[in-house]
Amino acid sequence: MSTNIKFLKGVGPANAVRLSKLNIFTVGDLLTHFPRRYEDRSQIKLVGKLTDGEYATIHTIVINVRELKPNRRLTIIKLSVRDESGMAFVTWFNQSYMKNKFKPGMELIISGKVQKKQFGVEFNKPEVELAADFFQQPGHIIPVYPATENISQWQLRSLIRQTLNLLTSLSESSQDSLPREITAQFNIIDPISALNNIHFPADHNALAQARRRIVFEELYLLQCGLSYLKYRNKHESIGIKHAPDGDLTAAIEKNLPFELTKDQLIAVQEIKSDMEEAVPMQRLVQGDVGSGKTVVAAIALTKTVENGFQGAMMAPTEILAEQHYHSLARLLAPHGVRLSLLTGSLTGRTREKILFHIREGLIDIVVGTHALIQDDVVFKHLGLVVTDEQHRFGVRQRACLQAKGSKPDVLVMTATPIPRTMALTVYGDLDVSIIRQMPPGRKPVATYVRSSDRREKVYRFATDQIKAGRQVYVVCPLVEESEKLEGKSAVTLYEELSNSFFRGIPCGLVHGKMKSADKEKVMTDFYHGNLKALISTTVIEVGVNVPNATVMIIENADRFGLAQLHQLRGRVGRGEDQSYCILLSDGRSAETRERLNLMVQVADGFKLAEQDLIIRGPGQFFGTNQHGLPDLKAANIVKDVDILLEARRAAELTIKKPELFMQLKEPLSQLYKNNFDLYMSH
Ligand code: ADP
Ligand code: MG
Repeated sequence: MSTNIKFLKGVGPANAVRLSKLNIFTVGDLLTHFPRRYEDRSQIKLVGKLTDGEYATIHTIVINVRELKPNRRLTIIKLSVRDESGMAFVTWFNQSYMKNKFKPGMELIISGKVQKKQFGVEFNKPEVELAADFFQQPGHIIPVYPATENISQWQLRSLIRQTLNLLTSLSESSQDSLPREITAQFNIIDPISALNNIHFPADHNALAQARRRIVFEELYLLQCGLSYLKYRNKHESIGIKHAPDGDLTAAIEKNLPFELTKDQLIAVQEIKSDMEEAVPMQRLVQGDVGSGKTVVAAIALTKTVENGFQGAMMAPTEILAEQHYHSLARLLAPHGVRLSLLTGSLTGRTREKILFHIREGLIDIVVGTHALIQDDVVFKHLGLVVTDEQHRFGVRQRACLQAKGSKPDVLVMTATPIPRTMALTVYGDLDVSIIRQMPPGRKPVATYVRSSDRREKVYRFATDQIKAGRQVYVVCPLVEESEKLEGKSAVTLYEELSNSFFRGIPCGLVHGKMKSADKEKVMTDFYHGNLKALISTTVIEVGVNVPNATVMIIENADRFGLAQLHQLRGRVGRGEDQSYCILLSDGRSAETRERLNLMVQVADGFKLAEQDLIIRGPGQFFGTNQHGLPDLKAANIVKDVDILLEARRAAELTIKKPELFMQLKEPLSQLYKNNFDLYMSH
């Protein structure tokens, strides 16, 4: 499988380059270049019964072959063919060599898109095969591969077929990388038939079995990796055994400005009992925006400090880190807890000094961004690591922070409600606490969809709210992936608004391209109410908390995913007053409308996240961020949820039996590559 494709017959240097464009470098890559879809040619149709626009396969005989030259630049090769029901024409433009391939009397199988013209049925550039060859193949479900311009379906098919034949003839290939016990129990076919049938299915059933094997294998290995981490954490590592609550934790809990909700209390209880165990805690707290996760983290951090350890909390943006720092400081500093903030904008002596304090144990809690995982950040004795908005970080980053202590407890918090399937894969190694309940007194945010001809009315409403003392967010989309464009579109909108609807109203602008000190200043001004309107890109998406803000206007709302829209909406509705979210969009497609209407109807972030995952697929759901897990080549965790659950069950069985698990060492380390080693080493 790891043999370079250039050693295959028929792959010269030129083809090797072309294949590399498809990320195919080895035999293994080639064989796991799975079809994008299949064409079913098992149904041969009659020419007389074809309808315009359909993809069809016909069995015909060649009547004649002509070459037409309507002008100097154009050559048309035109075949006339027929079956017992009628005539059809097949054309190629500027491919003169096609002429010599066909002769009258040849029997051909022609597959392609039907064009009904005035003079009859036409196929342009269809796939053509000799009938004799066609009828020799077992199934007629033909793979269609992801391809590029320079490499044809035909080339890919023949290369893959040839490689499969070679593989099938090798005796060593009959070995299955999955344990026999598992394949027998879960009814999984052998790998060679699976590969053969995923590329060239004998029939629909064989294809389904093949796909099931390949998806199962992928998900099973992934789950084995994750279950192993969880298992090993539970059974082999000795972490920090925190003592039951003492005075500090009690005092801080007693002085909270509000009563904890039932869900918060349960989460706190689960965290405390994890922390009191010798096994390192690996817990995910999932809670919708505004459900109050910060205070839960604050209590956990207090507990580690009370036990003489340090705590670290990592957030994905500076703004968020600052806000967490302030929230924690408000709750904890009055009780003598020493906190500091470490972000990328700290440099020179200030940074040196903080690093020194962390190293010497003069600081109890450090809140920061990625700056926390730099090599020169050394803790005296780290007891608890909290990462917020985890899906923005990779597994790798979580592991890096963790590695700064000796098996510290780990708490991961996410505001993006993770659909169950996602939680099983990306967070498969964690225990989960869920905060579903919102703090009392929250009113649901009233959500509306409006087209741009109502823009004036929308902004008039926003101005009225500002006059009534409230504050307003306006968010515009991140255009493409480019930071530059992102900045520009927010800038343009800011200028437009402050010269029109928001004339005379103090407005602020925040976007990703700004210096963090400038961003901080604007955010602070907005937080203190000096700015009434904040125009921004999605940098405010996570965590920012301004209870007085009651209006969220989202421009070009159709450009955002549902989960993201929900996050943005979560910025308002944090105080006592009724809040509003207005989605501006001129998107007319049915899909867009359906999506935006879901926002109007559904307030539950978990439901929206499930929908988002279904609509946009797993890749998009996590954006371009690396989550540090292997890519899934065949499995789709939305559609293959049944197989995922089976794979998980199989993995749990495997982990309990060392002799089974040992058989997987090789495929597992291949699958996880460096990430798994990194993971394994902690
Ligand atoms: P998130 O889960 O989105 O991080 P936060 O921790 O920022 O939510 O909490 C949102 C707001 O709700 C904060 O202003 C916080 O002080 C407040 N809050 C949290 N828990 C409660 C509670 N039990 N009762 C009342 N307000 C609460
Ligand atoms: Mg938060």
